[in-house]
Amino acid sequence: MSTPPNRALRCPTCRTLVTAGEGNFPFCSDRCRLIDLGKWASGAYRISSPILDPDVLEGLENTPRRQEDDDDRGDR
Ligand SMILES: [Zn+2]
Repeated sequence: MSTPPNRALRCPTCRTLVTAGEGNFPFCSDRCRLIDLGKWASGAYRISSPILDPDVLEGLENTPRRQEDDDDRGDR
């Protein structure tokens, strides 16, 4: 049994090697697929700044007053 699979990826959930062609590829099982979806849904993989447009980023840098606002609200 030394026939390497054409394609294989590691299951994003449990790192098991999964070959293309499996029903749940790239997940090793339906369970792992659901776990991964659950992580996304619950915000475990929250993406904080998906903005890649340089023009937008420049505009944000020119208006840095948000942080000062946060500082003023320091009373507890
Ligand atoms: Zn898995």
